[in-house]
This record gives sequence, C-alpha cells and structure tokens, in this order.
Amino acid sequence: MEGLCILRGARVFTPTPRGVADIVVGGGRVLALTALDEIPSSSLVSREVRCGGMIAFPGLIDGHVHVAGAGGEGGPSTRTPEVTVSQLVRGGITTVIGCLGTDGYTRTPQAVLMKVKSLRAQGLSAWMLTGAYQFPPPTITGDVGRDLALVEEVVGVGEVAISDHRASFVSPEDLADLASKARVGGMLGGKAGIVQLHMGDVRDPLRPIYRAIERSAIPIGQFMPTHMNRNAWIFEDAKEFGRRGGRIDITTSSYRYFPDDETKPSAALARLLASGVPLDRITFSSDGNGSLPLFDAQGRLLRLEIGQPRTVFEEIVDAIVHEGVPIQAALSVATVNPARAFALAGKGEISPGSDADIVLVDEDWRIRFVMARGQFMMEDGVVRPGVFEDSPT
Ligand code: ZN
Repeated sequence: MEGLCILRGARVFTPTPRGVADIVVGGGRVLALTALDEIPSSSLVSREVRCGGMIAFPGLIDGHVHVAGAGGEGGPSTRTPEVTVSQLVRGGITTVIGCLGTDGYTRTPQAVLMKVKSLRAQGLSAWMLTGAYQFPPPTITGDVGRDLALVEEVVGVGEVAISDHRASFVSPEDLADLASKARVGGMLGGKAGIVQLHMGDVRDPLRPIYRAIERSAIPIGQFMPTHMNRNAWIFEDAKEFGRRGGRIDITTSSYRYFPDDETKPSAALARLLASGVPLDRITFSSDGNGSLPLFDAQGRLLRLEIGQPRTVFEEIVDAIVHEGVPIQAALSVATVNPARAFALAGKGEISPGSDADIVLVDEDWRIRFVMARGQFMMEDGVVRPGVFEDSPT
C-alpha cells in the first residue's frame, strides 16, 4: 500500500484560513488537517514536504478552457492547439471544464470528450460542456439532455453564444428550452446542468437571459454568462444580474490584449463585491486556448491572440496584492465557487475526504508545488510533463 504524504507547516486556506497546519494525504484524498507535527514520522509516512513559509490552497478549477483547441476565425492557420498538462499545472489548475467554442462546424464535442479523458488519464480532473457557440448545439448523443444524463464527463452545455455577431439568434423560447433540457438531463445524471453563455458586445446583452427566465420557471442560477468583464456596459449590467442571484463568470486571459475595452479581472472582483454582489455568484475562468479575436466596426478581423490558463491565478494574486481582496475571497472564485456551480463533489476545498488537489506557493505567490488527486504534478517549481510534451522534435 502506498504510504501517507504529509505537507507540513504551510499556512492553509481551505479556502477558509486555517492557520499553520499539516495536511495529511493518502489514497488520492485529504485524510486530515492536523496541528503542526501532530502526526510523527513513521513507516506509514512515505513522503514529507516541509512547507514552512508557504501558503497552501485548493487546486484551482478553471471553468472554461478550450481543451481540444478552438478558434479559426482568421482562417485555418488560426486554429488554436489543444491545451497541455503543463500549461494547466503551471497555473495551479488541477480541475478543468472543457468546452468547444466558435467552431461547432468542423470540431466536435466528441473530440472535447476524448481530451477530457486524456487529461484525466494524466492525473488531472476534467469535465466538459456539450455543445458549441451554435444553436441548436452539436452534441454527443444527439440531445443535450441525453448527453447530461448518460455521459459522466458532461456537466452542462456551452458556451452557447448570445448577444454576439458570431451568435446564432437564439430566441428567449429557445434559450428557455435549452436550459430546461440541461436542467432535466442534469437531474437525471446527477449534474448541475449549467448553461454557459458566451456573451458578446451587443448592447443590453443580458436581456435574452431575463426573457428566458420570465417565460419559464428556470432558476437564474442555471445560467452562467461568461466574459462579463468584456466591455463597460456588460460589466455594469453584471452588477444588477449578480444582485438578482445571477452568476458572473469573469474571463481572465483577454484583458491584457484589450485593456481599453475590458475590466481587469482583479479589479472586477473588487468592484463586484463593493457593489453588493454575493461572493458565491462570482467565478473566474481563463478562456484558455480560446482565440481572442479583435474585430473592427465592420466586423473585419484585426488581430488574434490565444488565451492562457495561468491568468486565473495571476488575477487572483493581483486581487489580493493590489485590490485588497481578502485571500479567502480571492481564492473562492476559482475553488469553492466553481465546484459548487458545477456540482463537482470533492473539489474546491481542502477538507477531510476531499480530493488531494493542493497548490503550494512561496511568500511571493510563486507556485512551487501542485498536487492533483494525491500525485505531485509540480515539485520545487518543476513540472512533470504530460505525454509527448518532452518528446524530441
Ligand atoms: Zn467565448
């Protein structure tokens, strides 16, 4: 039997602050949080890591990553590649929700599903959204509800695009119908059945969601609009949406390319909290490996960038260091909040019985160790490469 691993003496945020403690790991799970050196070294302990001066927190959950590649809005050469294990681990991400994106014509949810299986096989945790930008959405089994009921990896549908020039024109009735399918399929499969919506630059962007809710008994929390910091007007509307109980997913990777339009995610978190939005409504996701196109007023593509998963962690650190957001609150947006939104059992917390997904950072918030399901994916700053990543070229 594999022995215990003890991470000794880190300042632990579960994400609730728990002071300096030891984290005991075995069988891929957290077994206990104990006082410093409460459990002595013994033959049952196969590994001890001295973590003095470090901060431990739950492995991050990135709820929107184009794991199997995306993009292509600038032609075939602009298709983005699949995400690598190293990319995620370097950003402290141990759980990822994969999605398809703009290209629901030549890419498929089946490819996303296979990539999710690949990430799992390499030690990370992964789930996915069925569908794509398009409506009706492409699916695995032929129906969104059936995908959710039958395919374990599917926890929702998305990103379905609304209020965007690349969107299908989804009527409020269609949106309510889609949410109903996701809700019922989710119930049958024991999933959250989240409807993740790509929000574009159209004015009054959240109106289709409000109208869908008015026409149905679907709770507002079933919807997760993303890119809610993409321009000034959607960010203003987001505050009201959040106060009404709506979820607000902030995209972290695009601000650096479009600082004139977007609200910096770290500042967005501080401003949403200050405006009375409950913390548990707010999540950060990277849009990792998505293409980030800039179009001019005539809809012509000006340039295209690629999203980086590590930006989730970078923006959390900026929220703590530069915006004065408490550590617990800043960590919650990519730990406990997405875990609850997507109903991921054992994720988002360091507590007895939870999966041993743990990140350790030094006093300058540099990631030093990443553990996923009890296995080290990064040690002393060195990432264990994924399959083929270290192959000679
Ligand atoms: Zn999007």
